[in-house]
Amino acid sequence: MEKADIINRSENIVTEVCPHCESEIEMTWSIADRGYKAFCPVCGERLMLCDECLHSGPNGEYVGNCDYCSETDSCKHNKNTT
Ligand SMILES: [Zn+2]
Ligand SMILES: [Zn+2]
Repeated sequence: MEKADIINRSENIVTEVCPHCESEIEMTWSIADRGYKAFCPVCGERLMLCDECLHSGPNGEYVGNCDYCSETDSCKHNKNTT
């Protein structure tokens, strides 16, 4: 039996290198449901999904408008509020 792969546009595979433990993390992540804040499954530290910020155009287009600031550890999608 072949399993049909249903690709939901709001759910995709994101690949980020964890800045804390330098593991390459690949996971299914829905920006729409879970936002831009993820946690590293290896070390538990917060992961910034800024690659997703950069591709937040209507069809995942590259828009390059992440304003990540390393001083506040936040960007416009990752407000450092909690
Ligand atoms: Zn990590
Ligand atoms: Zn960002």
